[in-house]
Amino acid sequence: MNPLEESDILIHGCIILPTIGREVVREGMIAIKNDKIRYVGKKSKAPRIKGEKVIDGRGKVAMPGLVNCHTHLAMTLFRGIAEDQPLEKWLKETIWPLEAKLKPGDVCNGALLGCLEMIKGGTTTFADMYFHEDQVAKAVEKAGLRAVLAQGILEAGVPRRGEKMLQDSVNFVRKYTGYADGRVTAQMGPHTLYTCSLDLLAKVRQKASELNVGIHMHLAESEETVNQTKQKHGLAEVELLEKIGFLGSDILAAHCIHLTEKEMQLLAKHNVKVSYNPVTNMKLAQGTARIQELMDLGVTVGIGTDGPASNNNLDMFQSMKVAALLQKQYYKDPTVLPAQTVLKMATTDGAKALGLEKTVGSLEVGKKADVILLDFKKPHLTPVHDPYANIVYSACRSDVDTVIVDGKILMENKNVKTLDEEEVMLEAQKTATNLPKRKAPIAKFIKNFI
Ligand SMILES: [Zn+2]
Repeated sequence: MNPLEESDILIHGCIILPTIGREVVREGMIAIKNDKIRYVGKKSKAPRIKGEKVIDGRGKVAMPGLVNCHTHLAMTLFRGIAEDQPLEKWLKETIWPLEAKLKPGDVCNGALLGCLEMIKGGTTTFADMYFHEDQVAKAVEKAGLRAVLAQGILEAGVPRRGEKMLQDSVNFVRKYTGYADGRVTAQMGPHTLYTCSLDLLAKVRQKASELNVGIHMHLAESEETVNQTKQKHGLAEVELLEKIGFLGSDILAAHCIHLTEKEMQLLAKHNVKVSYNPVTNMKLAQGTARIQELMDLGVTVGIGTDGPASNNNLDMFQSMKVAALLQKQYYKDPTVLPAQTVLKMATTDGAKALGLEKTVGSLEVGKKADVILLDFKKPHLTPVHDPYANIVYSACRSDVDTVIVDGKILMENKNVKTLDEEEVMLEAQKTATNLPKRKAPIAKFIKNFI
């Protein structure tokens, strides 16, 4: 008989979806040692492993943690503050003036609230772009999540401001790459083409290449700004970016709604990664990204919630369902984006979009142990003909029972272990209430831009 191995966490008796779209393991077992997966597969075929901590997985489904490819976490503070408005008005009249008042501590409180919401909803990795991003990194460290973070760069017609923000973004990369035991990866974060000049974007590209980090930006979100760019430069957004040598496999482009055929082909040619954010796109009525066509061209597409001010949550279960329904409706074809594809986008493909495909996104021996358990003993999840369909079309985030990141239990039996829920909500509520009343002058650059 083989010697008895030891593991830190042993989960047994669950259905396992190790790599989305491949096998479904019934009566499965997962063994976690330190921060990595030591075994995943049939319990009956497992080596003899004992666990320091044993989790009874019967009635549960284990799968890779969800990957949210695009958000602005601290915008939890603006949830519900300006509703049912066009994008430009929403940004210029409410969001930007409020953001100008944000202090580091405010961003920390908003980010902690976002981390709490994500843990409870089964998201284990997210990509964020915002101001005071060091505070987001600290919230991630405390919460125990994994994240790809970018300090935002918003030039807004003031080159000196752009240079300063570029330098801040570079400093952030230098300081926070590998932060929180390696759970934080850094990127550069130019806001978008209409808020950053081509000169500045070329410098961002150069710095990102020098530092060997990715770039997270918004692209082709609003028809109005896409048209303005075309009038000003005579080229579409993606064509312009190609012209300045900006495109590459390390670019994470959020939205990508208003694209020509040629632009889609350019994204595919340069292996640019796309974050599809269906809920926020629908809420702000920006149009529908042609995701099926991008995927047919071979583009890697993940799913994002975008900021909680325009969604109004960080719920990847809701975003997965809407992601599928919107594409079916757009193409008038129910076979578009089946459940397995959507779940793959929210795990494996999301990890690839963030450059983390070797680390997370599937449950494989040697990969980081980012695992979630869903409680399937629920009327709305019975019977289980197809666990993929149940997860995408029937499940909700309150079905998430246990969350493990980097081999550490962040939530067990719905109890969050790393954050004090009451305290996090109270502090965020206080900040959100006080912020609009605060007499901080609107920053000069914002005034100029408005
Ligand atoms: Zn965004």
